Amino acid sequence: MSDIRNVIVIGSGPAGLTAALYTARGNLTPLVIEGYNAGGQLMLTTMVENWPGYRDGIMGPQLMIEMRAQAERFGAEIITGQVAGVDLSSRPFTLTTSEGTTLQCRALIVATGASARLLGLESEQRLMGRGVSTCATCDGFFFKGRPVAIVGGGDSALEEALYLAKLASHVTVIHRRDALRASKIMQDKALAHPKISFAWNSIVEEVHDLGKGEVTGVRLRDVVKNETRELPIDGLFVAIGHTPNTALFKGLLDMDENGYLVTGRGSRTNVPGVFACGDVQDHVYRQAITAAGTGCMAAIDAERFLEGVPEAIGPHPSTVGA
Ligand code: NAP
Repeated sequence: MSDIRNVIVIGSGPAGLTAALYTARGNLTPLVIEGYNAGGQLMLTTMVENWPGYRDGIMGPQLMIEMRAQAERFGAEIITGQVAGVDLSSRPFTLTTSEGTTLQCRALIVATGASARLLGLESEQRLMGRGVSTCATCDGFFFKGRPVAIVGGGDSALEEALYLAKLASHVTVIHRRDALRASKIMQDKALAHPKISFAWNSIVEEVHDLGKGEVTGVRLRDVVKNETRELPIDGLFVAIGHTPNTALFKGLLDMDENGYLVTGRGSRTNVPGVFACGDVQDHVYRQAITAAGTGCMAAIDAERFLEGVPEAIGPHPSTVGA
């Protein structure tokens, strides 16, 4: 059994690396376990223009390299591995990796993120960051005055369609059924918007143009009429939901009905000493900067927990008195 770490951070996106930076600067020598998709969702983007401090923007992967190096500079240790099991029943907490390593820590920061669901097309994968995006707030600006489409019929798709309609020349919502899942108020707004139209009963079969390395259009199939047609667009946004990476914590940490971790009073989970930050506990904002902000909160909460600050050592309020 290895030595007991003060803090282990699971995840290496903006939340995890910010938590690592802060706990490292707090002399807690954190250990970060980065998964095989290290760096999180920013690794799937190109230019990031809304990260404060970079006037001309920075490439998503480059921003993650910088964050990683900054955390390491202050003493964070980063290892690559997949956490396969956690025992949170007593402290120190015990983690086992799929490589068979056992690790122990006094405080645990969960920053495992959420994964945007994708359509599963090879062309979608290959044009990701080159016209295909999973974040309208991040990438909508690149499509100012140009036609785009968004896939999905839920609140996210319509919220993003309304956002994109402020920038793009036209937005087509591609939905696989003839009825939307989104709330009535969102539906009313989107249906009435002069720059938004709907491709009902339609699925994307192919994203063009792999040869050019950029999005020029999509081939749609009408699943009722069984007909295909081409839709010329410059950007394709996929908004068919996110899956929080919480399978590891089922039955151990409180989750909402969609599987997101529930936090309260900062980043506290229902288990004292376990903190959560970033998209694994946020299905509303989902921005790199908000993830980093909550990573900072988790670091401070963990530090106070380890110092035994009275108001930092309990679980979050939903379980207090339960
Ligand atoms: P969601 O409600 O699960 O909707 C996902 C949409 O994507 C559905 O319309 C679904 O179609 C479609 N879809 C799923 N898989 C697909 C596939 N493989 N191909 C094509 N289409 C597919 O997800 P969400 O919109 O991200 O919302 C998640 C939660 O956050 C919801 O509870 C939502 O209300 C909430 N939210 C709220 C707000 C707000 O209040 N402002 C904003 C965003 C999200 P079907 O309808 O046919 O299943």
